[in-house]
Amino acid sequence: MTAIRECRHCGKRTLVADCEQCGRPFALTTAHPAGRLREFDDGPLDALPAGWQPGVCDFCSAKAAGEALDKVVSFGMRQKTCPSCHTEFFSEPA
Ligand SMILES: [Zn+2]
Ligand SMILES: [Zn+2]
Repeated sequence: MTAIRECRHCGKRTLVADCEQCGRPFALTTAHPAGRLREFDDGPLDALPAGWQPGVCDFCSAKAAGEALDKVVSFGMRQKTCPSCHTEFFSEPA
């Protein structure tokens, strides 16, 4: 399940998805279709690439990859922020 979310701070639109594993919403970035975890400078993803579906969130992926707990937590925080302006946007009304 994905939805388009428009950031209230910068107006950029990005896709968000619900994690298959924990159900938490996470922002999709260009890193995800590339099979990477989202880094600070990865940009918003505004359309799903053909044949690609989001799966588990950065938090669950980092945990499964055996990352150190502080890294797992920081991936978990990052996935809740706008990929463009890095403001946390899931706690706000859409
Ligand atoms: Zn998850
Ligand atoms: Zn923003």
